[in-house]
Amino acid sequence: MAEEKETKSIDQGTLELIEKAAKDGVNTTFDRADTVKACPIGSVGSCCKHCGMGPCRVPLPKGREETPEDKQKRRGVCGATAETIAARNFIRMVAGGAAAHSDHGRGVAELFLEVARGGAPGYEIKDEQKLLQVALDLGVEIGERSNNEIAADIGRIALGEYGKQEGELLTLRKAPLKRQELWRKLGVAPRGIDREIVEIMHRTHIGVDQDYKSLLKQGVRAAIGDGWGGSMLATELQDILFGTPAPVLGQANLGVLEKDEVNII
Ligand code: SF4
Repeated sequence: MAEEKETKSIDQGTLELIEKAAKDGVNTTFDRADTVKACPIGSVGSCCKHCGMGPCRVPLPKGREETPEDKQKRRGVCGATAETIAARNFIRMVAGGAAAHSDHGRGVAELFLEVARGGAPGYEIKDEQKLLQVALDLGVEIGERSNNEIAADIGRIALGEYGKQEGELLTLRKAPLKRQELWRKLGVAPRGIDREIVEIMHRTHIGVDQDYKSLLKQGVRAAIGDGWGGSMLATELQDILFGTPAPVLGQANLGVLEKDEVNII
């Protein structure tokens, strides 16, 4: 059987551009992925540099099983175990991802409020049905009020969800009831989008939370705050401003770029 040739992408357009980049002497992600070697300690999350006493490296012993004595010694200067260090590293990644997604939602909410106040020419409320649906979800009065009045309340409430200190995010109510109950039972229902991210940064610092299970739980809480909070608000408000997406026939991929036009991507 002929050996299958390894390709860098399954996409023909990408393959053609990789070839062109190579001819033009342009260094790409694909080249760097071939040459950069992953750090073996970093790839298992066993390096901590969260305080000035580190960096502390706590890798597994090479070429043999870890003994209980080895395990006892595998700790950072502060006493953090390998599990704690890996959990700290992992949930700091969760914090970064949740912050990136959710801050996008914050930007959308700020724009949304400006549109409602008439301060963002060029934008409008395109999907009125969605506006009313989101108003119901967030408990905003509809009555005889104008779209802009309703939207202003939605924008204010959406922004408030970022800095909320207690209770639960309003959008959690959109999840199936059983799921909501589970989140409450496990203590991972987020209070505010920003608050859960900040708490990760706090609890992963030296001398705060040393229990990997409790750390991972906070990672779940912040991730829910993003997925069912910040990111969800971004989608809801963008649908109202730009129209709820529906399947359409279109062109995609690098072939849409025109040689004789300015291509804004
Ligand atoms: S927090 Fe602990 S494990 Fe991390 S660098 Fe400081 S002393 Fe080392």
